[in-house]
Amino acid sequence: MKLQSVVRHATSRAAKRRLPAVAVLGAAIAAAVGATVLPAGAARAQATPPAQQKTQVPGYYRMMVGQLEVTALYDGYIDLDPKILKYTSAREVQSLLARMFVESTPGMQTAVNAYLINTGRNLVLVDTGAAGCFGPTLGRIGENLRAAGYAPEQVDTVLLTHLHGDHACGLAANGQPAFPNATVYVDKADADYWLNETTAAAAPKDAQGLFAMARAAVAPYQAANRFRTFNGGAGAEPIPGVRAVPAYGHTPGHSGYVFTSGKDSLLLWGDIIHSHAVQFRRPQVAIEFDTDSHAAVITRKRILADAAKGQLWVGGAHLPFPGLGHVRRDTAGYSWVPAEYGPIRTDR
Ligand SMILES: [Zn+2]
Repeated sequence: MKLQSVVRHATSRAAKRRLPAVAVLGAAIAAAVGATVLPAGAARAQATPPAQQKTQVPGYYRMMVGQLEVTALYDGYIDLDPKILKYTSAREVQSLLARMFVESTPGMQTAVNAYLINTGRNLVLVDTGAAGCFGPTLGRIGENLRAAGYAPEQVDTVLLTHLHGDHACGLAANGQPAFPNATVYVDKADADYWLNETTAAAAPKDAQGLFAMARAAVAPYQAANRFRTFNGGAGAEPIPGVRAVPAYGHTPGHSGYVFTSGKDSLLLWGDIIHSHAVQFRRPQVAIEFDTDSHAAVITRKRILADAAKGQLWVGGAHLPFPGLGHVRRDTAGYSWVPAEYGPIRTDR
């Protein structure tokens, strides 16, 4: 029986028997499709429940900032030992983590995010993830960029917030450029530090791997004359319309990037926050990865204040994915206000 005639039939039967049409309609449709009508509240027995899927949705999230199309890309996560937080106590850290329901064993789950901005003129990737540098829980930027509808060959510009491996290793794949048509930009102070063999040789043994990672990541672009540095302190615009924001301390040339479209601005701030549960509330807490933790704290306070005051959209490399939202000044420190999932709005 066709559905239209089922509906007609059920409605006329209901009229005759003074039954609610919807009850009759339900039974009629069930009969038409061969289903059993269960009494209300009866449990439907199932021989074999479906297996749990145990897979995650693709790691990208998209939104518009003015006319800019912003796609957050998930590289994966790393579990950080809370002990690497400095200028605080284990007790304070535990209470701040508990307040935000963040587990600390086997470590604080810390996302690694990159951001792909289609400005209409350029396809810009800010940071490139860790590739294989820090183990199997990371290295997904390439697959998530493809899932988001783009190809690595389409990226024309890569802006690095700094040369740590979880931001730069994704530049190269087996010694070849992972983004073969891209020019790579980083602040000169970061290049001078991480790419300098004398500085590397003088560094503590356990830090030398980081220098080697940075050199290997940019080598294919240097060979192809596609590696550039800029002077962030002089208000550099690595590409037109994108302003570098010096955020030195975490590394010597650590930088954010501001993308502006009309009245809206997006600040991609790199490693201003590693632990969202701790450092929004206590910006004075630093992390052992900092090259200069005191400078990093001063920078964090300045950037948080600017982001809150300017009501900027923010994208954070280690904020919970997609790491897009706003910063709000609170009576105690700051709060993170994440973006709401939604459709691509072009009417704002
Ligand atoms: Zn870093």
